[in-house]
Amino acid sequence: MECIFCKIVNGEIPASKVYENESVLAFKDINPVAPVHILIIPKKHYTSVLDIDTKSNILNEIFEAARVIAKELNIDESGFRLVTNTGESAGQTVKHIHFHLIGGRDMQWPPG
Ligand code: 5GP
Ligand code: ZN
Repeated sequence: MECIFCKIVNGEIPASKVYENESVLAFKDINPVAPVHILIIPKKHYTSVLDIDTKSNILNEIFEAARVIAKELNIDESGFRLVTNTGESAGQTVKHIHFHLIGGRDMQWPPG
């Protein structure tokens, strides 16, 4: 398996985990762009929004994880961003769908 996030799921490479259940894993981004920068992923490999199973419960579980983590890390009241980059123009570098949970500082909109 070549996918770096599958390797994190399988424990082949380390990650600083903040949330885990049977189907979802969340861990600190290795190159944080804000005081809080967590990646939330399905344990099952999907490339992106374009192939994730919308008939399963996985997206609900990811949003539930985002809510729990935001509360735990105290960014629920100040505000946060939940972003999934899809494809080349959006800058997706890891081809295992992931949701960036970013907070702890003021942000600009639109993003660059
Ligand atoms: P993308 O650009 O695909 O939306 O985001 C990929 C993210 O994964 C980047 O923010 C990058 O810092 C993070 N990342 C890449 N490799 C690793 C890794 O091995 N461990 C962790 N924790 N984060 C990683
Ligand atoms: Zn993968």
